[in-house]
Amino acid sequence: MRTRTRALVVVFSLATDCSGPPYAIMRILIIEDSEILRTNMAIGLRKQGHVVTEAADGEDGLWRAEAGDHDLLVLDLGLPKINGMVVLDKLRQDDMTTPVLILTARDGVDARVAGLRAGADDYLVKPFAFQELLARIEALMRRSHGSATNVLRTDDLELDTAAREVTLDGTAIKLARREYALLEILMRNAGAVVSRTDIETRIYDDSVEPNSNVVDAAVSILRRAIDKTGRPSRIDTKRGEGYRLRSQ
Ligand code: CA
Repeated sequence: MRTRTRALVVVFSLATDCSGPPYAIMRILIIEDSEILRTNMAIGLRKQGHVVTEAADGEDGLWRAEAGDHDLLVLDLGLPKINGMVVLDKLRQDDMTTPVLILTARDGVDARVAGLRAGADDYLVKPFAFQELLARIEALMRRSHGSATNVLRTDDLELDTAAREVTLDGTAIKLARREYALLEILMRNAGAVVSRTDIETRIYDDSVEPNSNVVDAAVSILRRAIDKTGRPSRIDTKRGEGYRLRSQ
């Protein structure tokens, strides 16, 4: 057992430095009781720009899954407090359609089959390499988004969620992860007000202190990046409501 854990650490420390094809920023909930495995997955996925929430047991995981707005769940089946299988059942019974990737033991064929029947979208057998986790996640995302275009457009702003590139009037602009995530949610809802809470859930992760003014900071950095000098900001502040990306 000790050997296997050590082998995993090596795989992950090598793999998390790889720069795979960038994809849209996702909110991923990892429910896994092995701290080393959970932490390594979280570090790797955060390096890819994703927003990661962690839960160490089934009870906390179920609560977070039901309370939060996640794009994908990574769910270990063997969990303390509430078994992963029960977590999955409960979520599907509650009509939660978020894609779920289950993690199973090498000899867990029955569990894997039961997991897929209970509504899991894919599985990974432990131990696995980080690249494999990333590839499965990207495949799940492509599947859940269908073959629709990856490019969002608002006036002369373009955001390619597959390449994670933003162009303004044809010129590429560089945005840090948080500002990119902010622009993505504003563009997906262009012309409509996006609440602070919705923005927070997209751009916050466990590493941000609650009550910090990360939303305001991200908005002002984004304004500097996309607004033209001497023109009114493209991002309206709706006091007490949120922010809106204007669309002409
Ligand atoms: Ca486990």
